[in-house]
Amino acid sequence: MKKNYFEKLGVELPNLGFGCMRFPIKDNKINFEESKELIHHAMRNGLNYFDTAYPYHEGESENFLGKVLPDFPRESYFLSTKLPIWKIENEGDAEKYFNEQLIKLNVDYFDFYHLHAMNEERIKIMEKFNLYDFVAKKKAEGKIKHIGFSFHDTNEVLQRLISAYDWDFVQLQINYWDYAENDAKKAYEIVEKHNIPCFVMEPVRGGFLASFAPQAEKHMKDFAPDQSLASWALRWVASLPNVAVVLSGMSNQIQLNDNLNTFNDFKPITKEELTIIDEVIEDLRKIKPVPCTGCRYCMDCSFGVDIPNVFEIYNDYKKSENKDIAKKSYFLFTEEKYRAHNCQKCLDCLPKCPQGINIPEELQKIDIEFSNFK
Ligand code: SF4
Ligand code: SF4
Repeated sequence: MKKNYFEKLGVELPNLGFGCMRFPIKDNKINFEESKELIHHAMRNGLNYFDTAYPYHEGESENFLGKVLPDFPRESYFLSTKLPIWKIENEGDAEKYFNEQLIKLNVDYFDFYHLHAMNEERIKIMEKFNLYDFVAKKKAEGKIKHIGFSFHDTNEVLQRLISAYDWDFVQLQINYWDYAENDAKKAYEIVEKHNIPCFVMEPVRGGFLASFAPQAEKHMKDFAPDQSLASWALRWVASLPNVAVVLSGMSNQIQLNDNLNTFNDFKPITKEELTIIDEVIEDLRKIKPVPCTGCRYCMDCSFGVDIPNVFEIYNDYKKSENKDIAKKSYFLFTEEKYRAHNCQKCLDCLPKCPQGINIPEELQKIDIEFSNFK
């Protein structure tokens, strides 16, 4: 496993981290045995960084890890979780959630503790309840080793937040698509300029960069037939010099083994490969995808719409242009009550989307387009 050492952190970290929001599912719950085997397989292969959060798997990700990680000595793995800032409404709430997380995860300390999904609104909560002092106190008590935050907002807000505290690390959404199309390049540069190690989430953009239309896929497959599309995305982001850990949410052994192969025999991305990635970006630009990562923070919709599922089917259709598959996925495999036309434009989901997607507008567009398939 490729390892990284950053002076500021003082520990050697595996370059690949296990994102714990996409475990295999059975009967709408984490499939315990399959997920446990993924964790054990990861540990056997040197992947010992686990990143969870209070809301992942509707609160069950932390409980699950608290049952499985004690199979290993505490010092043999790195555990990262996140304070759910949006739930803090009263003095003492931060303490309450922090202690609850220690109990759920069955540990005495967290190696990496994030302020979760920070943005303008959540900075106000941080200030109101003096959470900077709260996490500093926990660090002094030895219950947190490293303090950082994950982030979804403008680069102006990022700049302000970075300057407000002596952070040990920052977690950003970086991948070659967001670097080229959105603000990820500038965000990465801000963090690098402050000499803070960068942890990466959504390197494959919720699977968007793991499957393409045949024409886009051809660029990569002609060059390296055996290399998965996901491995291109992971190698690209892991080749940035200030990246410490790249998180990947792995849902099965195939994905885990593919990622382990990528990082066990890591090859930085070459100039020639960068040209190929540019060609792919050009092809992806033409399809205008909905920039949904499948995080499900917008759920549940009170009117039943399965927002990420609708966006996934739509993006797959735009990539493949295969009407038959889209028709089957949408009208056969997606129950009527989950489809886009149920959106009542209540706007409840809008502030929950870290990607800033105008969800009702996109759903209306998709509803119109898919209605023509009937
Ligand atoms: S705007 Fe539409 S999709 Fe969003 S919560 Fe309201 S009804 Fe559901
Ligand atoms: S619409 Fe936004 S919040 Fe909902 S799953 Fe997609 S990216 Fe996440």
